[in-house]
Order: sequence, then C-alpha cells, then structure tokens
Amino acid sequence: MAISLDDLPLRDDLRGRSPYGAPEAKVPVALNVNENTHPIPEDVAHDIVESVARAVLQVNRYPDREFTELRESLAGYLDHGLTAANLWAANGSNEVIQQILQAFGGPGRTILGFQPTYSMHTIIASGTGTTWLDGTRDEGFRISPETVRREIERTDPDIVILCGPNNPTGTPLPIETIEAAYDAARGIVLVDEAYAEFMPSHVPTALTLLEGRPRLLVSRTMSKAFAFAGARVGYLAADPGVVDALRLVRLPYHLSSLTQAAAVAALRHAPEMLAMVDDIKAQRDRIVTTLTELGYEPYETWSNFVLFGGVDDPHGVFEKLLERGIIVRDLSIPGHLRVSAGTEAETTAFLDAMRDIRLGA
Ligand SMILES: *Cc1c(COP(=O)(O)O)cnc(C)c1O
Repeated sequence: MAISLDDLPLRDDLRGRSPYGAPEAKVPVALNVNENTHPIPEDVAHDIVESVARAVLQVNRYPDREFTELRESLAGYLDHGLTAANLWAANGSNEVIQQILQAFGGPGRTILGFQPTYSMHTIIASGTGTTWLDGTRDEGFRISPETVRREIERTDPDIVILCGPNNPTGTPLPIETIEAAYDAARGIVLVDEAYAEFMPSHVPTALTLLEGRPRLLVSRTMSKAFAFAGARVGYLAADPGVVDALRLVRLPYHLSSLTQAAAVAALRHAPEMLAMVDDIKAQRDRIVTTLTELGYEPYETWSNFVLFGGVDDPHGVFEKLLERGIIVRDLSIPGHLRVSAGTEAETTAFLDAMRDIRLGA
C-alpha cells in the first residue's frame, strides 16, 4: 500500500503537478518520442563496447570529474571555434537545463518560454522553483524578432528559453529571433537545439551567435540525431564563465565513466552515427507531402517529426494506429497529432495506416 501524495509533506508548489508522461509503449512501430529509430551501425557498437569495457576495468575509481576528453570531443564535433572550456555535458540535455535553472533560476526568479513547447521545460522550472512565464507565439507557432522583444519587455524574465526547432511543432526558430531575444533580455538566453542536426544544412544555428554573447547558452543532445537516447548524453556550448557557474550546482562525478567512454567513442564515429540524418529528413518530408495529399495539415518542420492538424478525432486516430502496432503522440492540442520520422519501412507503415483511416478502411 502506498501513501497518497496528498498525505506526504510535499513542497506546496509541487502539489497537483504531473510528471513527464510520454507513454512507454512496446509496439512494433514506435514514432512517439522523436527517437532516431535507426540502430547504430554494428562496427560502431563494437568500438563503443570496447571503450566501455576498458572503463569498467577502472570503475573502482571515480570518473574524471571534468570529463575533459568528452568536452574536447564535443568541441571538435561542434567546431565553430569552440574549445573544451566552452563545453559542458550531463546525463541528457534535460539535466543540463536543470543545472542551468539551478544556477540562474530558482525561487524568486522567472523564466519566459513559449508554449506549446517541450514539456520538460515547465517541469524543470517547477522542480527548481523557477516561476514560468508564458510568452505568446505568432500565427503558425512562429516567434518573430518583434514578438520575442515584445514578450521579453512585457515579462522582464531572468531567463528566456527558446526551443529551435521547436518541439512539439517542428517550427523553425529564426536566428534573428535569437539575436533580438539576446538584445532585449537582461539575463540568460537559453536555446534548446535538440534537433539542430535536422535543420537545413545551410541555415546558421545559435552556435554562430556565441562569440561576444556571454549570456547566450546553447543546449544540444546526443539523443536524437546521434541515435544515443539510451546513453543519456546532453551538452551545452557557452562562455567558459557559464560553465564555471554550472560547476557550482552539479553533483560531483555526475557523468559516469561508462557514459563518458561511450560518448567519446560515439563521437569518434560521428559521420557514421549521423549517416541516417539525411534519410530521416527525407522520411520527414515524405510524411509532410503524403499527409498533405490526404487532406491533413502538417506544419513546416526542421526537426525529425511532424505536427499535423486537420485531425477530427485525434484520440480515435491514435487508437486506430495503435491497433495497427503504431504509436504516435497525442499532445492534447485539439485536432492535432505528432509523429516522428522513422525508417522508410516504419514511415510507410504509418502513412499506409493514415490512408486507410482517412478512407475509413
Ligand atoms: C528530446 C529533447 C531533448 C532531449 O533530452 P535528453 O535529456 O538529451 O534526452 C531536449 N530538448 C528537446 C526540445 C527535446 O525534444
């Protein structure tokens, strides 16, 4: 028998809150949490295992608290003139974001975000006691430079968090909007770039703005493009002073030696790990084209998933897909569902099912 939350001396500000809730369904075609559904290449897997095996032989010792080799590897991967001093990492970018809010947010401080956005942003705000302020987006979930400036002036937040491309909508975040946010804000501007590798390759990311902007923070993850969600590796690029601030709040040795070894090995194979990104982008574009033909209303997306409207009964369509062994995401946005781009076969299974459902088959 478990005691109910109501009967526990829980923090008052956590009462009535819900935990992160993406269903963990074991179905043949899982397109609900924006994973990279392509397994990593087997020879890369073997190299990672060898590196982890070597780390296991020293697991009696605490890991490198500064994870220097990993930070050097991440700097090499990101390029843009960044060095290890600009890099930080944690167990998923969620932990990175939590550390940022621990250092720069907290009780008495505020964070401005723009919903609908990644649900963990509000959950991390509440967990760290940071007050969430809701910004208003433009038509089609966009955020123009004028809008971001207006919302920052209206709310005067300690932290601004922008998600580009945005989850769950896929919406591009213009570089001009990030610049405008930085100029208007007095505090930290954090850009969550979990899907950066799925952007058009010629488009500049927030990394290009880091030079000379010490309050700008860019978080990334190995969970999506790198097909490394299970390993839990997220990271941050920012001014070295920001990295110093995160050292004040992180738990010592927060990145295990096994995680560090696995991530360094994976980064050695970055081109092979990222080989599927082009295919995923092609499947994403096929989803947009086909759903449009079927009369749905997909949004422009620069990520590895598609949000689409024009769904009369999202819950009913979700259930019909599930009957066919396919899971997508029902985000409770009226008339909408979200689907991750899978392998060609998974994507075909989804699109065939959507055609059948549209035709009432
Ligand atoms: C998936 C996702 C993340 C990744 O979180 P990890 O903790 O690195 O797995 C971060 N931000 C957004 C917007 C995401 O969609």
